Amino acid sequence: MDIVELLPCPFCGGDAERIDFGPGSGDNEGGSCIACTRCQSSGPVEFGYKENFVSNWNRRLAALAPAGVGEADTKRLDFMQSHRVALIPEFEGPWDAEVYQEGEVSRVFSGSTPREAIDEAIRYEN
Ligand SMILES: [Zn+2]
Repeated sequence: MDIVELLPCPFCGGDAERIDFGPGSGDNEGGSCIACTRCQSSGPVEFGYKENFVSNWNRRLAALAPAGVGEADTKRLDFMQSHRVALIPEFEGPWDAEVYQEGEVSRVFSGSTPREAIDEAIRYEN
């Protein structure tokens, strides 16, 4: 059987560990769960067939992690660099993402937040 590594806790990034409930654990006896050693958040207690036990925890992590927020912002910054985009806050309301070409603004995209403005530009350029 392959040993699948437990991914860290989705809430605090702490180490996760498998807990097997032995005799005297009441309703949980014979069950297992995966819990964070730092913040104590845990997955459901499972009984019997535990083949997908670890992968369920790891999938849960993928589902709960804030959908790669950091990664998305890195992409935005990379795009700003590669396409020479300036972000301009309008006096009130929208933000403009100005795409420069040869020292001049070639296109302007708007959004209600800086991220939206850049995303508009990315959508257009791709
Ligand atoms: Zn935790």
